[in-house]
Amino acid sequence: RLWNFSAGPAALPQAVLERAQRELLDWQGCGASVMELSHRGKLFMGLAQQAEADLRELLAIPENYAVLFLQGGATQHFAQIPMNLAAEGASADYVVTGHWGEKAASEAAPYVKVNLAGSSKAEHYLRLPPRETWQLDPRAAYVHYTPNETIHGVEFHDIPDVGDVPLVADMSSDILSGPIDVTKFGLIYAGAQKNIGPSGLVVLIIRRDLLERSSRPMARIFRYADHAANDSMLNTPNTWGWYLAGLTFQWLKEQGGLTAMGERNTAKATLLYDAIDHSDGYYRSPVEPSARSRMNVPFTLHDSALDADFLKASEQAGLLALKGHKAVGGMRASLYNAVPMEAVQALVAFMKDFAKRHG
Ligand code: PLP
Repeated sequence: RLWNFSAGPAALPQAVLERAQRELLDWQGCGASVMELSHRGKLFMGLAQQAEADLRELLAIPENYAVLFLQGGATQHFAQIPMNLAAEGASADYVVTGHWGEKAASEAAPYVKVNLAGSSKAEHYLRLPPRETWQLDPRAAYVHYTPNETIHGVEFHDIPDVGDVPLVADMSSDILSGPIDVTKFGLIYAGAQKNIGPSGLVVLIIRRDLLERSSRPMARIFRYADHAANDSMLNTPNTWGWYLAGLTFQWLKEQGGLTAMGERNTAKATLLYDAIDHSDGYYRSPVEPSARSRMNVPFTLHDSALDADFLKASEQAGLLALKGHKAVGGMRASLYNAVPMEAVQALVAFMKDFAKRHG
């Protein structure tokens, strides 16, 4: 296997894939694959409970939060969150720091009055809007933000204080990248395909008192309270995704938990940003240093005419998926948990060599 810097679906830990491969045809000696088992059977229920327990341990999730294993991608929850958290006619504050925050706000708009409380759009999402420019409404149903913007490579390095209004975070691309204080949030959600497992699974952590927030009529499948009351088995869940997520949580525990992962992720990102910053302008990181993401590192070459050569040569060197998102251009290296330091070292060595050869 080659080093995979994809932004998502992204690399999974090698050990997780190897274990899944070993267990694919016969899971725990039951004579069938895990994805062929009833989700209501004892075996799968045990797996589901273990996955939740491991996630609770990793993130130190208190009992007054429900953990849900859902579907629909983060995108569906852009809409489902206002349906569940905002009463008819209510407003919600959105702090938008990139592409995904914009999407979250526009998809919420049919269900809640969206107040753009803060934005760095005028700065092309290359920095975070200073906290003193945010216009938060203390009567808002919630404040939504995106701690890590996958495309723009901008990350909050602390949790914003929004007073008593529930803070809602789209952690699709930074969940489990380091420890967080869950009690600072009303709701955390993440599509799985970066730091958890395969796409099609969404992990959602919600403070229990918020489960009963919305009185609007809606189908049960959209109501988080119904999912919580049914242990995320209101309908057939994504059992395969849940299984792989469980393996990833176990792997994270074996790696020393989230403090250790956070240190590793900082070291990986530092190595790459240092290489960019010390390249005499050959490579450039457009993001303001204090807002740089540890997970997604966009960078440009001094001459975009070299982009195609860079991508071709990097693939030949075994470094996959470095092409930047079309909205930003250039390159992007995603350094999620499953990307080891060795991969970043290989990338940095390649970048230095490329600069020498194409000087
Ligand atoms: N939010 C963030 C931060 C993302 O990076 C993505 C990309 O996958 C999404 C939301 C959209 O997620 P999904 O494709 O699972 O709906």
